[in-house]
Amino acid sequence: QETDASASRVTPMMAQYLEIKAAHPEALLFYRMGDFYELFFTDAEEASRTLGIVLTKRGKHQGEDIPMCGVPVERSDEYLERLIAAGHRVAVCEQTEDPAEARKRGGKSVVKRDVVRLVTPGTVTEERLLDPARSSLFAAVARQRADDGWTYAVAATDITTGRFTVTETEAGGLAAELARLDPREIVVPDAIYDDADLAHFWRESRVLVTPIPRDGLDPASAARRLQEYYGVASLDAFGSFSRAETAAAAAALAYVERTQYGARPALSPPSRGAAGGVLSVDAATRANLELIRTLGGERAGSLLATIDMTLTPGGGRLLAERLAGPLTDLTRIRARHDAVEALTGDSLLRGAIRERLKAAPDMARALSRLTLDRGGPRDLAAMCAGLQAAHGLGELLGQNDGLPGEIAGAGAALRALDAGVADALAAALADELPLLKRDGGFVREGYDAALDEARLLQADSRRYIAALQSRYAAETGVRTLKIKHNNMIGYYVEAPQAAGETFLQPPLNSLFVHRQTMAGAMRFSTVELGELEAKIASAADRARGVELAVFERLRALLIDHAGPIVAAASALDALDVTAALSELAVERRWVRPVVDDSLAFCLEEARHPVVEAALKRQGQPFVGNDSDLGVAGGESGRIMIVTGPNMAGKSTYLRQNALAVVLAQMGAFVPASRAHIGVVDRLFSRVGAADDLARGRSTFMVEMIETAAILNQAGPRALVILDEIGRGTATFDGLSIAWAAIEHLHAVNRCRSLFATHYHELTALSERLDRVANATMRVTEFQGEVVFLHEVTPGAADRSYGIQVARLAGLPTSVVERAKQILAELEKGDREKPVSALIDDLPLFAAAPRGAPRQAIAAEPARPDPVREALAAIDIDDLSPRAALDALYNLKTML
Ligand code: ADP
Repeated sequence: QETDASASRVTPMMAQYLEIKAAHPEALLFYRMGDFYELFFTDAEEASRTLGIVLTKRGKHQGEDIPMCGVPVERSDEYLERLIAAGHRVAVCEQTEDPAEARKRGGKSVVKRDVVRLVTPGTVTEERLLDPARSSLFAAVARQRADDGWTYAVAATDITTGRFTVTETEAGGLAAELARLDPREIVVPDAIYDDADLAHFWRESRVLVTPIPRDGLDPASAARRLQEYYGVASLDAFGSFSRAETAAAAAALAYVERTQYGARPALSPPSRGAAGGVLSVDAATRANLELIRTLGGERAGSLLATIDMTLTPGGGRLLAERLAGPLTDLTRIRARHDAVEALTGDSLLRGAIRERLKAAPDMARALSRLTLDRGGPRDLAAMCAGLQAAHGLGELLGQNDGLPGEIAGAGAALRALDAGVADALAAALADELPLLKRDGGFVREGYDAALDEARLLQADSRRYIAALQSRYAAETGVRTLKIKHNNMIGYYVEAPQAAGETFLQPPLNSLFVHRQTMAGAMRFSTVELGELEAKIASAADRARGVELAVFERLRALLIDHAGPIVAAASALDALDVTAALSELAVERRWVRPVVDDSLAFCLEEARHPVVEAALKRQGQPFVGNDSDLGVAGGESGRIMIVTGPNMAGKSTYLRQNALAVVLAQMGAFVPASRAHIGVVDRLFSRVGAADDLARGRSTFMVEMIETAAILNQAGPRALVILDEIGRGTATFDGLSIAWAAIEHLHAVNRCRSLFATHYHELTALSERLDRVANATMRVTEFQGEVVFLHEVTPGAADRSYGIQVARLAGLPTSVVERAKQILAELEKGDREKPVSALIDDLPLFAAAPRGAPRQAIAAEPARPDPVREALAAIDIDDLSPRAALDALYNLKTML
């Protein structure tokens, strides 16, 4: 609207800017001006805030100053990185003609400009904008009507590696599928974006959600778009896709086109992701188990960081992906275990594989940059090193017979590579490489005769200039004469002022042509120098031309072989993951789990890998614990109720069982001495009253919504872990809810469950319900202090030791003492008797009848006594005489 009113008054440049900006309202516009990208109006304000750069003004628009800020083109990556990280999109607008052209048109012509690229979190390709350890996906969502609502499809696209998968899910599984994919951006057609049922989901997403127009996503156009992208007449070759899947894939391609403009990333054809074959883990469970990152959002301290022994970026990404999507298909799980087992048993082969992997750079991402024509000489070198490592590994694996399918298959993919590609790269590339191809110098000497000749000419000319300088010095008798070069006037002869004056006179003026007079010096050109300069420049041009041609040839060669190269890169990733998991298993003494289609769940001496690693750093041992949630010959699982004081290790124990499932089903070994797990199809983990204040919901409400989801969804193959459910509300409410939830799990869900609670009353359930068992964390007392043994034993906790724990935590002595009195009184009362009745017995809480004899407990209200507390806090053995005296003085002042 801005343009219409003021079109006549705005400068031509501003008119151009406003027009381009109007087409990209959702992005910050980087408007190219010489060596800078400039931002205007609110874009400038936003960018200056995010980047902490100066906000200035440039000209006026409708009588107001135009806010402006700029970033140098040379360092724009850095600024892009920060803007993208802050959740912005950036439209990069370049000059699309030579400024000289615009000048030729004359008048008020401005240089033509156009947006060449839209940079968004899910579509960046620059190395520095990418986390090497994380896939950089965007997910496109589509849907089709089903009998009871909608069926959704999600296309996951990684333009940095070319991976492209689609999965289908019913509406209820959409959130879990998006959580598994962990995309950097979600792309949603407006109809789905505006759907009232999903509005809050998009709003609360922690990932950037981008609405796109729905045009072209109807079944016929969607299929056509895919066919055009891959140049095929029919999609059948890729498999059969539902309407929703086709629409999701088309939406992904539409977004690729919208962000990349002319550039075409080499996406592999869409393949069906393993949604059906994946352990379903919802977002809350993922967060709670800290699989990929901790609750604080850090990678360090997550399960992934603890088990990651991969050596290559691609291997690291594949490990994260497998951890995010454990399998349910027994054959595939066992195939992965076979591979890990083969390498745990052969340390020589494992070592040799890992040694070669160390030299393998990020081929997938280098290839994708080259395909998009955003790559440089170092990407070619990365391809070269990667291909050489691939050949070496292929050969190594070829020498070993009897390798399990996963490893043998990887070896075959590596041997399928054409050795000529790596050789061609190695022959062409110099040892030291510039970052940008336009800098030149990346082609090896002796590779191309024309290039060598041009380079020789440049070198010769330089030598010739040195000779020329000596000759001029001799001829003029000016020994301080120099030949120099600058970008303004090219090569010139410089002489001191006094000597220079003589060049203006005959006979020297026939040789030297005056160019510039500087303070104390004069500059001249000569015919010879001019000729030489032209020769040098044309040699440099020729050299650059040859180098760029070599670059293009190598790039085309790689693109030609992209299929086998991508397959080889995936094989390297898989080998890296397998070897890393073997290394892990050997180093930490993990075992191969037995995974089958029973409902068994039996772990011996199992550990929590993250807690164990943390304790190890402090030199402390982790106590392994058993668990058995199977029921002999049963069709249902057992519910184990775990009681014990705070800090005894309940949460750790619960989580280690869930983590064992994730590890076993992703194809890893597990931290235990023996493990037998009947395959789990859904994993749920909840912690009572998890803090979710950031999202502004009551913690108890969140807890109940999550518990409801479990009770409604968990089937007999699920594993459910509930930690302190119900504690977010009043005692009796909480106890009652927990009680009813266990009954429901037992009667309806019938799944394997672990339930940690501080409501001892719940342990009585084991007498009434046959598949409920009690376990408790062993605790003893030593000299009045509670000692946690971290050992799980059958039975119920006899007491909670809460007061002892409180004392350890530094609660004032008076409060601890008073709490003991109250506890003793409460325990005297009938345990069956409601607490409210007990409270009536405690005059501290109820108004004591006037005149009634006060009970002993009330007679000594614990008034905090500062002197007593200060005295108790003094450790006499640890006091110097001087400090003792100070303490005495201090006590005296307290009286
Ligand atoms: P709870 O849930 O009972 O309050 P946690 O599971 O949070 O207790 O454990 C508290 C701490 O006890 C942990 O941070 C860890 O340091 C230690 N711990 C837990 N389990 C074990 C174990 N099996 N062996 C050794 N230390 C443990």
